[in-house]
Amino acid sequence: EGLQPGIEYIMHPLPQPLNPHYKPSNKLLGKVAVVTGGDSGIGRAVSLYYTLEGATVAFTYVKGREDEDKDHTLKMISELKVEGAKDPIAIPTDLSYEENCKRVVDEVIAEYGQIDILVNNAAEQYYTTNIEDVNETRLERLFRINVFSYFFMSRYALKYMKQGSCIINTTSLVAYAGNSKLLDYSSTKGAIVAFTRSLSLQLIEKGIRVNAVAPGPVWTPLEATSLPPHELAIFGSEVPMNRAAEPYEIAPAFVFLACNVCASYITGQVVHPNGGTIVNA
Ligand code: NAD
Repeated sequence: EGLQPGIEYIMHPLPQPLNPHYKPSNKLLGKVAVVTGGDSGIGRAVSLYYTLEGATVAFTYVKGREDEDKDHTLKMISELKVEGAKDPIAIPTDLSYEENCKRVVDEVIAEYGQIDILVNNAAEQYYTTNIEDVNETRLERLFRINVFSYFFMSRYALKYMKQGSCIINTTSLVAYAGNSKLLDYSSTKGAIVAFTRSLSLQLIEKGIRVNAVAPGPVWTPLEATSLPPHELAIFGSEVPMNRAAEPYEIAPAFVFLACNVCASYITGQVVHPNGGTIVNA
């Protein structure tokens, strides 16, 4: 259904949460990480890899829509947790509103007393075939979750973040390459690149690093629910590797950027796990 004749379609395997060949080495032992949208897709993979590396993880999710994902992620974190890490917490919230961002930070501080790593990752995506489809309500909704929440989560978390802590923002390949069918979404992701660079400069003196990850196509519910079938069927064919990634192929970039031993001299940068696309920085 929705497939066009004359196109060689690529069908995708189901996402696997972890790569069995990954060897953790306690890179984040003793750290408390907050991952927004940490119940699903890339955010879930980040929550799991941070857990493997020794961090205590608090993640946010949207209540109702993704309760099963949340339960599944909590269970996996509890099973993978290393000795010394605390039990995970899952915080249901719509991060589109400033007061909810503040509440998330308050809850994490009440539970763990510290925040060392903030991963701003939650986002929504709409398929926009034409600029005529863009309207004020939808644009505001998209910017609220994809941009405002990154500002407000950072603002409130930074009240507690000390020297040596870091922020990692999820942007996208489309912020660089553009995408004619993701007009409003790609614009929100471009804003996150500029936000990352500007905030990193502001926080240099405090010894807090701010970086971003710009994945190419990744097989997640975001894509499965927002793209029409004919787009989904060729999803991944636009990058040189000619396939979409599994979330676990993206998460190690977040581990690297969060690790003060690995990435101590890296701030204001964007890492590009995108299947070989060369982008203009
Ligand atoms: P996903 O749908 O699996 O995850 C999105 C998360 O955002 C979910 O956990 C959801 O609960 C959360 N979220 C959505 N609306 C929210 C709201 N109003 N309030 C709070 N949380 C909300 O999708 P994903 O592909 O894993 O996306 C994760 C990040 O990766 C996003 O920033 C996305 O833009 C980015 N990204 C994805 C791809 C891709 O191809 N999948 C490529 C580049 C970048």
